[in-house]
Amino acid sequence: MSFTDLRLIEPLLKSLRHEGYTTPTDIQRQAFPHIVAGKDMLGCAQTGTGKTAAFALPVLQNLHSKKPNQTKKPTHGKAARVPEHRPIRALVLSPTRELAAQIGDSFRDYGKHLDLRGTTIFGGVNQRPQVRALKQGVDIVVATPGRLMDLINQRALTLRDVEILILDEADRMLDMGFIPDIRKIIAQIPKKRQTLMFSATMPKSIQSLADSILTDPAVVKIASKNATADTVKQSAYFIDPRSKSDLLGKLLEGPDMTRTLVFSRTKRGADKITKRLNGSGFTAEAIHSNKTQGARTKALHNFKSGRTLVLVASDIAARGLDVDDISHVVNFDMPGDAETYVHRIGRSGRAGTKGQAITFCAHDERRSLRHIEKTIGKAIPVLKHSIQAPPPAPSGAAIRKAATPSGPRSTRPTGKPKRAKRNGSSGSRQARPNESAHNASAGSGRPKRNARRAKPAAKKRPR
Ligand code: AMP
Repeated sequence: MSFTDLRLIEPLLKSLRHEGYTTPTDIQRQAFPHIVAGKDMLGCAQTGTGKTAAFALPVLQNLHSKKPNQTKKPTHGKAARVPEHRPIRALVLSPTRELAAQIGDSFRDYGKHLDLRGTTIFGGVNQRPQVRALKQGVDIVVATPGRLMDLINQRALTLRDVEILILDEADRMLDMGFIPDIRKIIAQIPKKRQTLMFSATMPKSIQSLADSILTDPAVVKIASKNATADTVKQSAYFIDPRSKSDLLGKLLEGPDMTRTLVFSRTKRGADKITKRLNGSGFTAEAIHSNKTQGARTKALHNFKSGRTLVLVASDIAARGLDVDDISHVVNFDMPGDAETYVHRIGRSGRAGTKGQAITFCAHDERRSLRHIEKTIGKAIPVLKHSIQAPPPAPSGAAIRKAATPSGPRSTRPTGKPKRAKRNGSSGSRQARPNESAHNASAGSGRPKRNARRAKPAAKKRPR
């Protein structure tokens, strides 16, 4: 099946040719006919399935084909002086700034041969350019809920002419506490509208939100709940937490790690990992919510353009990251739950490309790994590594003994863990039945690829 079979209009087909898309993805094939027919839709699709285009293309087509339901142009006030009054006809709500920016870019790219205008609204940046764009008139607004509420309260925009509402990553909205704002925003949109809602997972509260805002929706399910894409090869390493940085460094020396996204549980952790990688000569940057929007955008840009080899992210910052050709996702810290695991590794292997997901698992986290395996319905092979665990920290008694004049001086704790040896046996790790004996990138015999490291002068973060 081709996009022509889906009866897409020529200006959209032209954009798709430019994007290099030849075949619609499953969700695109299934969603287009419902959306073009004006039906409400509930899309249950995992990340990377092409769901943005699945709603952006038919929404653009609908807006282009129909005349706006425009309320009368105001006869007085500021709005009356706007030469061309364009009401907001489609509103897309996204949980994060990065995702909003990406959806905004998609609408712009796909709709470039149509006479439709869009803008993106999110917090963390000056609102003035956003207000200016709204004043000039836009047909499509992609927004995060917080800034949108601010601008509504300032009367910088009205939603009374919205014909199509799209709620993307609804389950993330729930996690981030946006549902009350979402309900307030929806209360401002006419009841007679088309509503599309997308969610990777369908917990009960999302189902009840769907029940309350959708009318007789078509339901499109692309993958079963918590399924992982077959295009992502998954593996894990059992590793002492103190040796994780050494293992990451070793893996990054492999030739196939061309664009690696590393997940840390905390923002501080992300900064620490980044610092250590930079110290070892790898170009790496961190992205998390303590960074300014400017720094986040720059880090993302450097990663996309290949200036940085590694992007170290916290979960919140990684929501909706859509970077082409991420070769590897590394869970430096185990994800908090299986759902987060699915979301993280879905950043790789997008739209049919191949990717790898590597999870570092500490001894006391093996149960979580088993839980993830159970949830995704797949075994995650455990690979061997050659990083030796540092010796255990001295016990309190040993420290006291060492502190006495008779104690051997060399056992005095320095406060710093001993540096792990790079080569050696795989330690006390127990092999599991599904374990692969082959060691992808961390084998001790692999020649070092120092070319993959930045030269000393390039150790600094790129400007
Ligand atoms: P999404 O699930 O919307 O985040 O999309 C994942 C990636 O797939 C994005 O990089 C899109 O540009 C790409 N994509 C979407 N539709 C297609 C298609 N039909 N063919 C190839 N790539 C696509």
